[in-house]
Amino acid sequence: PFEVLIIGGGPAGAAAAIYTARKGVRTGIVTERFGGQVNDTLDIANYPGISHTTGPEYAAALEQHVRDYEVDLITAQSVAELVPATQPGGLITVKLGNGGRLQSRSVILATGARWRNVGVPGEEEYKTKGVAYCPSCDGPLFKGKDVAVIGGGNSGIEAAIDLAGVVKHVTVLEFMPEMKADAVLVKKLNSLPNVTVHTNAQTTEITGEGGKVSGLKFRHRGDGTDASVDLEGVFVQIGLVPNTEWLGDTVQRSKFGEIEVNARGETSVPGVFAAGDCTTVPYKQIVVAAGAGSTAALSAFDYLIRTPAP
Ligand code: FAD
Repeated sequence: PFEVLIIGGGPAGAAAAIYTARKGVRTGIVTERFGGQVNDTLDIANYPGISHTTGPEYAAALEQHVRDYEVDLITAQSVAELVPATQPGGLITVKLGNGGRLQSRSVILATGARWRNVGVPGEEEYKTKGVAYCPSCDGPLFKGKDVAVIGGGNSGIEAAIDLAGVVKHVTVLEFMPEMKADAVLVKKLNSLPNVTVHTNAQTTEITGEGGKVSGLKFRHRGDGTDASVDLEGVFVQIGLVPNTEWLGDTVQRSKFGEIEVNARGETSVPGVFAAGDCTTVPYKQIVVAAGAGSTAALSAFDYLIRTPAP
């Protein structure tokens, strides 16, 4: 069995592995893919000490850094269930999607988050056929075309600014009366000639033709009138959902599904720690996730030396 088993190979999981491996404890990582959301990020310019890098470059560097140490890396595997130890200090079981099982004295949950769906007719049907979630990944596919961005928070407005440089025209739809993004971003957006913003606008349907997105319908919430726009792409940018459903009631989660952690990264289950975007930590950023991963790792190490095996 492992002494520390990390679930998730994003910045939080990678940082945790580097820390526990350097402590000399037997460490494993199980992850669907290595690098996490960083793979979907174009430019990273806010990681201290690295003025600029790209997502794929940083993801590769993370993996290389983990491989510098003795860490069992199990990739392309998803975890389906966590079974806490029956006694304090005992073995925790992790069941894999393929039916396999792993055991460890401590576990660090670092499963991150994914894009939130808008949940209107057409979204599921036209995913990858015009409905997209990652502007930096898929933006270039819509070069010279008309697109919409659903969501007026920081990610939506950043996406709209980004896309405006590539596509012909961007329509931004924000559900609330005001955009939630930082003022500096809104100012930049408003300075662009090929962007139209609708606030207080509820997207009601993504329409298609010939198996591809052809438009979007929305309601002006102020007066209840319906409107539509013709376009070829819709970027959904309404936030992130933590990848924690598989945990059920085994660990305490917030009403948003985030794993409740304290300042040490401890969860409600002894020996189970959590870090990064899957937790209640405020601010979902690479440096925050990496910091939380190292905190969880040091707490797991502390747990291992203080809690004797039964
Ligand atoms: P993640 O990166 O989400 O990694 C979690 C990993 O766990 C994934 O590899 C996933 O496959 C795996 N996993 C999930 N569920 C399971 C399961 N059941 N079994 C096994 N494995 C599982 N932050 C910045 O600081 N700067 C930026 O410039 C920046 N730009 C961004 C741009 C985009 C487009 C996006 C999407 C995010 C950006 N972020 C940025 C945020 C940053 O990427 C995240 O905060 C960070 O990646 C979180 O790290 P994490 O390790 O907690 O989770």
